[in-house]
Amino acid sequence: MHNELETYSTLENTSANNLTDSFNREHTYLRISLIEKCNLRCTYCMPAEGVGLSPPDSIMSANEVLEIAKTFVNSGVTKIRLTGGEPLLRKDFELIYKGLAELPAEIGITTNAVLLDKYLSLFKEKGMKSINISLDTLNKKKFSDVTRRDQFDRVMKNIYASLNAGIQPRINVVLLRDFNENEINDFIELTKDLPLVVRFIEFMPFEGNEWKTEKLVPMASILQNVAEHFEGNKIERIQDKPNDTSKNYRIKGFIGSFSIISTVTNPFCDSCNRIRLTANGTIKNCLFSEDEVNILKVFRKNEPIMPVVKMALGKKHRMRGGMDTLEEFSDPKKNQANRSMILIGG
Ligand code: SAM
Ligand code: SF4
Repeated sequence: MHNELETYSTLENTSANNLTDSFNREHTYLRISLIEKCNLRCTYCMPAEGVGLSPPDSIMSANEVLEIAKTFVNSGVTKIRLTGGEPLLRKDFELIYKGLAELPAEIGITTNAVLLDKYLSLFKEKGMKSINISLDTLNKKKFSDVTRRDQFDRVMKNIYASLNAGIQPRINVVLLRDFNENEINDFIELTKDLPLVVRFIEFMPFEGNEWKTEKLVPMASILQNVAEHFEGNKIERIQDKPNDTSKNYRIKGFIGSFSIISTVTNPFCDSCNRIRLTANGTIKNCLFSEDEVNILKVFRKNEPIMPVVKMALGKKHRMRGGMDTLEEFSDPKKNQANRSMILIGG
């Protein structure tokens, strides 16, 4: 194990992808959760009483994150996204980000933006083009209700600061029936004059988040809502990129765009290229899979991690962690067996 940061700039991503599963899906996108803690308490992400945290010494250190990421890049990963909990809460975030920025891979981040102002100049300096920011409502009181914290003004300020810095905010909105579905069009109106992407996400079930089918706002009803408000012929479909998890749209003449991430009603498992590494060093081969394998323990024994990663990928199901039908997916016995989203990272 290395105790000092290495310089990674000489590493070239020339290797063929080694991370192919039994359905021939190449995994080029690694999501790394840096931390299990958060400065918000979103109702759909974690229970009010909090979640059991891993012992501090079982969380990856900065050097471990960098070494493990480097091994993945050598095996064909071309894109890494940092998530959490709230990744910017990590005291050594800057060290980790700077180390990762040396790798021949695109580095992104998903954040609640409470602490974003501290890091914007660093992100700008390293050439970050866009940043995923969670914001579920444009109403201050509703923000406090859903996040259980009073940080609306700060988040809004930081979204505008990101725009001013030339880093495009991609706003993640988890839609909940009777909470924020009436704000869909207000969010889209923001894209008229601002170069934003608003991404509507279907509410997904995880342990302790009281998921019910009735709370879900499905893709079909989002589109119907938008078509009624803006008139159907004004909605333009934008070409999806390969492995895109979102369906992308624009209102004719608007600067920004909007997307729908329909994990529940219209999953994108056939083209999935994602693999997840949790803060305590376990590989999750699918967001919905209960199967986890700890590679940090292997790494700490100075043993190679890739055979273990490949074994985990070999067990990846064709669809939604093995819940092939919507009925199975809606069954609490199955869908609540997975740990809370705050411990996975989205
Ligand atoms: N704290 C950061 C944030 O909120 O952006 C990063 C971690 S958060 C777990 C990553 C993403 O997961 C966020 O966009 C959040 O909205 C989304 N998320 C959390 N719980 C969800 C759920 N039950 N269904 C759909 N998306 C969820
Ligand atoms: Fe924290 Fe993000 Fe989960 Fe909200 S969605 S509780 S901000 S980790």
